[in-house]
Amino acid sequence: VVRLPGLTLPGLANAHSHAFHRALRGRAQAGPGSFWTWREAMYGVAGSLDPERYFRLARATFAEMALAGITCVGEFHYLHHGPDGRPYDDPTAMAGAVVAAAREAGPRITLLDTLYLTSTVDGGALAGVQRRFGDATVSAWAQRRGRLDPGPGVVVGAAAHSVRAVPADALAALAATVDGPVHVHLSEQPAENEACQRRYGCSPTELLARSGLLRPGTTAVHATHLSTVDIELLGSSGACVCLCPTTERDLADGIGPARALADAGVPLCLGSDSHAVIDLLEEARALELNERLASLERGRFTTGELLTAATLAGHRSLGWPDAGRLAVGARADLVTVRLDSVRTAGGAPDIAAVYSAGAADVTHVVIDGRVVVRDGRHTAVDAAAELAAILPR
Ligand SMILES: [Zn+2]
Repeated sequence: VVRLPGLTLPGLANAHSHAFHRALRGRAQAGPGSFWTWREAMYGVAGSLDPERYFRLARATFAEMALAGITCVGEFHYLHHGPDGRPYDDPTAMAGAVVAAAREAGPRITLLDTLYLTSTVDGGALAGVQRRFGDATVSAWAQRRGRLDPGPGVVVGAAAHSVRAVPADALAALAATVDGPVHVHLSEQPAENEACQRRYGCSPTELLARSGLLRPGTTAVHATHLSTVDIELLGSSGACVCLCPTTERDLADGIGPARALADAGVPLCLGSDSHAVIDLLEEARALELNERLASLERGRFTTGELLTAATLAGHRSLGWPDAGRLAVGARADLVTVRLDSVRTAGGAPDIAAVYSAGAADVTHVVIDGRVVVRDGRHTAVDAAAELAAILPR
């Protein structure tokens, strides 16, 4: 008999991750700039990785996720090719590294293999490090993706990077060739909306709808700068929205219309995206606290809604409908949050878990019946030591 003192939740799903962005934490957060200047720093890291280094960085990052109670991750993977844009001898080497990293670190993975064709909405050619992200055509991307042999316990999904990186005809081609989970960055920045209006005469959300991509199984990531029409379109489509509040605040993206989306019928899930923070409980409470800042009202979401976003909705977005709830027949993912820490002592369990606890209060994590974290320690990976070794000061 194993006792799990505290509050045991279903597994937390991190529905939007770029594992290699973890290298930017504690480096790219200070100083002036915007999303676009941050992106230059991110390209610097992307240029420095090969499959071996990518594997080590991703394994440590996924281990940090396991320590935070994340039992499933959606890796939005676009760093496909060698430094000059030429495929590796094994064209799936980078994707394979990410899948192997997750397998060693514990969380189940949905690999969202990403289509990335252009540098601007107007169809600018990929240049510099962006060449590592690009397959020349939709069919070349589909062919490489088809070669992935991830083994059991992995979902291979798809992603269109954004309307910046995927032209309308390619969005439609992707929609026609893929079933299963499809993720896409949507309206993270006003500049993307403006460029889309100039090129196509519509918003990015309307472009996805025209392309056949707004449908059940699709997850729109960020959805920060939306019109009323966009929100209605998303609400009637069956698509899900993944908000990434800690990244959106770090990158000065803005606050997305979370309550309006939920009221329109859009399921909401959560991701740590750039990994400025890896803490799904923090993402969950940020959903409500951002709403309070924007609306000047409290209680916009119930704790139940916030926990559903962090668990069940994220798993559904990633193609794991049998996870994210504690029930007979569901996957044995268990996340225990201590209620006797200096942060959580004295609180009601559900309120303390959402509003007071953090990743440091996660003591035990079981993934598919396997103990991955015991007494706050990862059973296989020393994530802090690994990160310090890979990312020397
Ligand atoms: Zn992202």
